[in-house]
Amino acid sequence: MAKQSQVPLAAVIKPLATLPSDEALPCVVDHGETGPIRCNRCKAYMCPSMQFIEGGRRFQCCFCSCVTEVPPHYFQHLDHTGKRVDCYDRPELSMGSYEFTATVDYCKNNKCPNPPAFIFMIDVSYNAVKSGLVSLVCEELKQLIDYLPR
Ligand SMILES: [Zn+2]
Repeated sequence: MAKQSQVPLAAVIKPLATLPSDEALPCVVDHGETGPIRCNRCKAYMCPSMQFIEGGRRFQCCFCSCVTEVPPHYFQHLDHTGKRVDCYDRPELSMGSYEFTATVDYCKNNKCPNPPAFIFMIDVSYNAVKSGLVSLVCEELKQLIDYLPR
């Protein structure tokens, strides 16, 4: 039997990092007044891994498999491979990094928030929730938050 390799799996993610001079800014996606297209169940944002079905009238979420109706203003036909014909015109369907324009629904009292001082990324996968890691991280963050600079 072959010995399994012991390659450590890790990723270094630097959101909002300063871009190198030879790199372009991420594209900004604006879906208008209704805001970003999202999965009905888990609220995941539209991304290249969402699968369009039924001629492009619905999409299946790549995270929770929920099928969501495509809003009429976002409808597009599919090509012979099942891809939307506009997929390379839309960063959210073809690129790894892009930004969405938030609507007032994302703002408290219809007032845009200040730029974030800290961003916490928490793994909320099934295994992370089940193991108690999410609960532990949230409890620790509540303790830590009073000590962060304001
Ligand atoms: Zn979903």
